[in-house]
Amino acid sequence: LRHPERLVWQRHDVKRSLPERMTNSHKGSHGKGLMVGGSDLMPGSIAMSAKAALRSGAGLLTVATAKEVIPSVSSYVQEATFLAMSETAGKITGHIKDDLQGFDAAAVGMGLGRHPEAQELIEELLEQIEAPLLIDADGLFHLKELFDKVAQRPYPTILTPHPGEFARLLGKPIKTIMQSPFAYCRSFACKHRVYLVLKGPATIITSPEGKQRVDLTGNAGLAKGGTGDVLSGILLAMVLQGGSILDGISNGCFIHGTTAELLTDEQHAMRDLLATDVVEGLSQTFRTFS
Ligand code: AMP
Ligand code: MG
Repeated sequence: LRHPERLVWQRHDVKRSLPERMTNSHKGSHGKGLMVGGSDLMPGSIAMSAKAALRSGAGLLTVATAKEVIPSVSSYVQEATFLAMSETAGKITGHIKDDLQGFDAAAVGMGLGRHPEAQELIEELLEQIEAPLLIDADGLFHLKELFDKVAQRPYPTILTPHPGEFARLLGKPIKTIMQSPFAYCRSFACKHRVYLVLKGPATIITSPEGKQRVDLTGNAGLAKGGTGDVLSGILLAMVLQGGSILDGISNGCFIHGTTAELLTDEQHAMRDLLATDVVEGLSQTFRTFS
């Protein structure tokens, strides 16, 4: 992918912009996050995403997921609290609707499933979350029908598609988009008023104003199921901890990719690296920034 060198987000940029952890802080200082997703056949996505958010510094995390998967998710993420969604996995109940307030940021879509109720759920969240909202994975599946709601949100919206998901949102073939990805990202982000993270070996990050950056960290060890979910958790945590959204999501992409690099330098080969290894490896990366 050809890109101007000046767009590349680098270690010194992360060092400069990563919010410090104050000595006198408490859990509320580092953001209260909501994560919505997971379904009976995909409990792992939300579990890894939630753990990644906590490992990345989120103060408090509530996971809203299908009732039947709460035991498996909570055994992996003991630090989170839970909201039970109905068995149709994704249909938010009247009871939960009341609980959507008071979060500093939210993320939705990981392992959610593509059932029609998921569209209603995304619509609810777009209308009711009064904070930054990140939409990933299955959360992007029905989003085309909701573009007007996205553009109308008075709070930041962050979309994190891989090329296939972006192609679906744009209604164009991946091949066409990849011929001029910067231009497609910019026009999409500006048109729909979103922060856009187009993932890949070179991840393109675009603000609603059209400002762009590239993250070149990571390697083919990340080409495996679950790594995108881990990225979403890291990004949620970065947004929760304050500072500019564009810096936060750029830092999150850098931290995700750098962790894969560190792990494949030392403990792992690219072949065996797992998304959960990335979650546990975050400590090593964060220690290089403290
Ligand atoms: P997803 O497709 O949603 O699971 O996301 C995959 C994640 O892994 C994204 O953060 C990608 O940028 C990253 N990734 C996948 N393949 C590669 C690769 N070959 N080199 C670097 N990063 C990759
Ligand atoms: Mg994904």
